[in-house]
Amino acid sequence: TAAAVVVVRHRMKNSGKWAKAMEILKEFEDKCGTPVSKLRQVADAMTVEMHAGLASDGGSKLKMLISYVDNLPTGDETGIFYALDLGGTNFRVLRVKLGGVGNVKKEFKEVSIPPNLMIGKSEDLFDFIAGELAKFVATEDEDMQIPPGTQRELGFTFSFPVKQSSIAGGTLVRWTKGFNIEDAVGADVVEELTKAMERAGLDMRVSALVNDTVGTLAGGRYGNSDVIAAVILGTGTNAAYVERANAIPKWQGLLPKSGEMVINMEWGNFRSSHLPLTEYDEGLDGDSLNPGEQIYEKLISGMYLGEVVRRVLLKMAEEAELFGDTVPSKLQKPFILRTPDMSAMHHDSTPDLKVVATKLKDILEISNTSLKTRKVIVEVCDLVATRGARLSAAGILGILKKIGKDTCKEGEENQKSVIAMDGGLFEHYTKFRKTMQDTMNELLGEEISKNIIVELSNDGSGLGAALLAASHSQYLEYIES
Ligand code: BGC
Ligand code: MG
Repeated sequence: TAAAVVVVRHRMKNSGKWAKAMEILKEFEDKCGTPVSKLRQVADAMTVEMHAGLASDGGSKLKMLISYVDNLPTGDETGIFYALDLGGTNFRVLRVKLGGVGNVKKEFKEVSIPPNLMIGKSEDLFDFIAGELAKFVATEDEDMQIPPGTQRELGFTFSFPVKQSSIAGGTLVRWTKGFNIEDAVGADVVEELTKAMERAGLDMRVSALVNDTVGTLAGGRYGNSDVIAAVILGTGTNAAYVERANAIPKWQGLLPKSGEMVINMEWGNFRSSHLPLTEYDEGLDGDSLNPGEQIYEKLISGMYLGEVVRRVLLKMAEEAELFGDTVPSKLQKPFILRTPDMSAMHHDSTPDLKVVATKLKDILEISNTSLKTRKVIVEVCDLVATRGARLSAAGILGILKKIGKDTCKEGEENQKSVIAMDGGLFEHYTKFRKTMQDTMNELLGEEISKNIIVELSNDGSGLGAALLAASHSQYLEYIES
């Protein structure tokens, strides 16, 4: 009958569409594959770029920024210090009382940054920050009071690439992670903050300016002398590590007494022909606030993973009618699918993928999907997260190679190397974290991986910044003498 013909046609059309969806999925899977051989190439390329970035300014996409931190915390730091952490959608102000390892008192407040300030004028952003800081200072209680007659001191964690001129000064190279405030680029961010604090009537001195990776490294080292590097896997991604000062040809200053210097790699800007880039990544990059930059970050970090997933799903909607014969309008909206939502779908352990269904409905206004379709969505999440996690493991291998910790030297069989890790992606996205760790073991082998420890250092950077403010305090010489 005619009705039967319609049904058959409909099925044929649907199976054609489904085949198309599978084709898109398969192609994506092929293009974003990360076999061990490729990861080794990525790690080697990372090591090569590290050398190049240390050799000269502009020698590599990896800036390998000198942090001016040549002494990491010892545990003897004392006093009350402030810290300010700016780098994502929230910023935090902290008050820290240091009384030796295990005797740290912390108070903090977290404030979300109004989105318009992330793309406005420098003065407005810094006025907002200084205003919040002033309010927080006003809540000092007796136990956390600065001695009368002394100036308050601040460690400023500023999680963007900064070319430092000293431990407490440096100019912004560029914004990342959705910030875009043109008149701040090239400006000294400590000067900007200091002026804003003056305008807010706050008498405070910035004693240390640090990247969040450097703060995390310092905070991690405070409690554990085996910490040699820090990695952030959050909204953005980056790493810092302890380098031998005489392995930094571009360093013009005196050789520090310690013989060491912490390097802020800015690895988010790493790029290599070995990176498994797809059309979706190219689209994301082209439409971003910083095209051509932070390519590694765009493959790995929390700001972007959900957006890559959205782009793959959009293609399946457009070319394979994955969600029916119209393309859901919400799905066309950049950044609507956030990485925490992607993570929730990826971890959905209900047999009928209820969480996926709920997220689709709440975020994308898509309902009535088949289980088969929801499985495809989970698969896309898995591909994107796996690629990011494995690439970040390769980056860590690159660092370990650079400092000779990827092999076991005689007499050092039990020497532990700890990587302090922070960021919401690592902390909350379980499958991402697990894949990253498994991949490190896979790359390093059983013997070495026993000695390489990745440790979550939850908000190490705030503590680290306060510690570095303490070790660079203007009052230090008086205390010491
Ligand atoms: C910034 C780094 C920062 C990282 C993690 C990147 O976008 O360029 O400076 O360390 O995000 O917050
Ligand atoms: Mg942070």
